[in-house]
Amino acid sequence: MYTDTHIHLQDYKTHNIKNVVTNAIKNGVVHFINPSAHPSDWEAVTALAAQYPEVTPAYGIHPWYLDDALPNWEDTLEKILQHNPSAYVGECGIDRLKNPDTATQIDIFKYHIRLANKYARPLIIHAVKADREMAELFSELPQRTIFHSFTGSAEWGKEIQKRGFFLGLNFSILRKKNAAEILKSLNLRQILLETDSPYQNIERNIETLPQNLPHLGQQIAELLQMSYEEFQQIICHNQNEFLGEK
Ligand SMILES: [Zn+2]
Repeated sequence: MYTDTHIHLQDYKTHNIKNVVTNAIKNGVVHFINPSAHPSDWEAVTALAAQYPEVTPAYGIHPWYLDDALPNWEDTLEKILQHNPSAYVGECGIDRLKNPDTATQIDIFKYHIRLANKYARPLIIHAVKADREMAELFSELPQRTIFHSFTGSAEWGKEIQKRGFFLGLNFSILRKKNAAEILKSLNLRQILLETDSPYQNIERNIETLPQNLPHLGQQIAELLQMSYEEFQQIICHNQNEFLGEK
């Protein structure tokens, strides 16, 4: 039984969400952590969580959409978290590839960190080319933090894990030439699987589906030269540990 720890169900354009969820469940993907990316999809994420008990919502402003941070967004975000005791914070973070100016990004990210700590919620981080900035914030991050869509170096991955944080792995790690080397150097007790659906598509214009998560697990297990059953047990253990699933 898998949790897709990062999916944006609200962003599907060519698939019916109900079918996406039903087919995923049929394939053993029974829980979805569904982050929002900007205030204009907070409502959609709330509606999804109300409709599907399998969906855990997350609320935040993705570093690509900081212009959507309208006045008072801080209060609105805090109120949403108060009303949704199971919600996570995210996704949020720093992306220096998209935007080299980090000052505003760090400011907004720090507010998310504060809320995650204040309400004891897990934090979902989007971090690209921001290793130094992230390392400087390590001591402020809540224990239950996921660095989503990890594609960094083995050294950086180990650095994150040493602080007790988790790495979210999706199909993008498989596109790295040294994927096997990176995966083997990680602490497998601190990884989680995600599809980042409908994104991370292998072919252009084809939306990714959470039902593909077991396939991702098989490919990772293969690179680790480990049986799929053993790998599944590790992921199951990690999910229990991080998500508090039994
Ligand atoms: Zn995302």
